[in-house]
Amino acid sequence: MGKVIIFSAPSGAGKSTIVNYLLRKNLGLEFSVSATCRAPRGQEQHGKEYYFFTQEEFKKRIDANDFLEYEEVYPGCFYGTLKSEVERIWARGHSVLFDVDVVGGLNIKEKFGKNALSVFVQPPSVAVLRERLIGRATDSAEKIEERIAKAEYEMTFAERFDTVVVNDRLEDALCEAEQIVRNFLGTDV
Ligand code: ADP
Ligand code: 5GP
Repeated sequence: MGKVIIFSAPSGAGKSTIVNYLLRKNLGLEFSVSATCRAPRGQEQHGKEYYFFTQEEFKKRIDANDFLEYEEVYPGCFYGTLKSEVERIWARGHSVLFDVDVVGGLNIKEKFGKNALSVFVQPPSVAVLRERLIGRATDSAEKIEERIAKAEYEMTFAERFDTVVVNDRLEDALCEAEQIVRNFLGTDV
């Protein structure tokens, strides 16, 4: 079994920013592309940020037992990790990097045990989270409120993760995340 690293947080906390930074660092990490039935945002491409499925395709995949885990993250909107992603990445000798919601993150950690590192990215406050989601300008006001409403609940999961990175000053959070990952992979110098 290879290694897996899981980044989870409320939406807008900075997971994608941190995960994209780590992917550029030549740590032997590869991103697990999740499946979703939400619409692509901005420049997002099928097979890169997500596999964009219709709800019908997604349900077919559930019935075929293709998912390691999946969830209805928002009402009517499924997200899930395909088993084939993990196999594909391990076969290339890489470790898997996940960006999933908090419940998915804990489920994946449970499946891989000691071979997994679970990291919770914590925003300084819910008010800051709202500012970041507004600043990102990728979601409607209604979608932002939906995400904020969920965030307060998601924050209560932090202590169940192996480690917590507070994303206040971005440079500090990136540096801390890289160190934690290096320690886990044994590439610390
Ligand atoms: P997530 O993947 O958790 O939903 P993103 O990585 O997309 O979050 O970050 C949400 C927004 O906040 C983005 O516009 C990003 O550039 C910005 N952001 C991330 N980290 C910080 C930070 N430490 N300070 C200020 N803005 C940040
Ligand atoms: P977004 O729509 O902002 O890309 O993602 C919404 C939420 O779904 C985020 O918290 C993201 O981490 C989560 N998510 C993305 N992929 C998966 C997945 O494969 N499984 C689960 N459980 N959540 C996911």
